[in-house]
Amino acid sequence: MANTPDAVIDHLLAGIKGFKARYYEQDPEHMQALAQQGQKPKVLLIACSDSRVDPAILTGALPGELFVVRNVANLVPPYQLAGHYDGARAAIEYAVRDLEVQHIVVLGHAGCGGIHALLSSLSGKRLERDFIGGWVSMALDACFKYILNPGGKELPPTGSMEVAEVDLGTLCQHQHLAERAAIRGSLANLATYPWIRARLAEGRLHLHGWWFDLETGDLWCTDAENTVFLPILD
Ligand SMILES: [Zn+2]
Repeated sequence: MANTPDAVIDHLLAGIKGFKARYYEQDPEHMQALAQQGQKPKVLLIACSDSRVDPAILTGALPGELFVVRNVANLVPPYQLAGHYDGARAAIEYAVRDLEVQHIVVLGHAGCGGIHALLSSLSGKRLERDFIGGWVSMALDACFKYILNPGGKELPPTGSMEVAEVDLGTLCQHQHLAERAAIRGSLANLATYPWIRARLAEGRLHLHGWWFDLETGDLWCTDAENTVFLPILD
C-alpha cells in the first residue's frame, strides 16, 4: 500500500491509467457514446462520503450507470426553497427532473462516523467542529420517529434534556439502529419533494433504502413499504 505523499498520488494516477486501458481501450464504443450522447443513468444513489463504501466499487457499476450524491451520513434534507449553496438538493433535482432516473437508492453503512457524531452529541458530548453537528442533526427526527419513540408519542423538543428519558444508551450501543433510521428519514424526506412525490404516485420512480454491513459485507434492504430492513440472502 502506498504510504509516502508522492506514492499516494502516484497510486491514484496509475489507477486512472488503468481505467483508461480498461474502458477506453477495451470498450471504446461505450465511452464514446457516453462522451458524445451524454449520460442516461437510471439510478440516483445517495451514499456516505466514507472511503470504505464507494458506491461504484460496491456495486461494480460501469461508467454512466450511477448518478451519485455523497455527503456525511448519506442524508437527504427535506424539501425547502430557502436554501442557497445546496449541493445535495441541486443534485437530486438534476437527477430526477433532468435525467429522469427511475430509482433512488439511499445507501447507509455500519460504523458511520456521521451517525456516531450525532449519537455522541445526543449523549451530551460537545462536538468541536464547525459544520458536522448541524448537518447530522438532520437525522435526529428520524431517530426519535423510528426508534426512540416508535409509538408516536409527542416528541420532546430538539436539544431538550428529556432526551435522556428515552433509551438513548441502548441506541448508542446499537448504532446500526440509528444508521437505519437515518436512511428511513432520508427516504421520507425525498418524498417531500413535489416532483419526486408526483413521480412516485405515477409509478415512474422507486425509492430504496440500503444498509451495508462493513463487518460482513452483507447488504440489508428496506421492504416495499420502506419500513423494515431485511438481509439480502445468497
Ligand atoms: Zn458514513
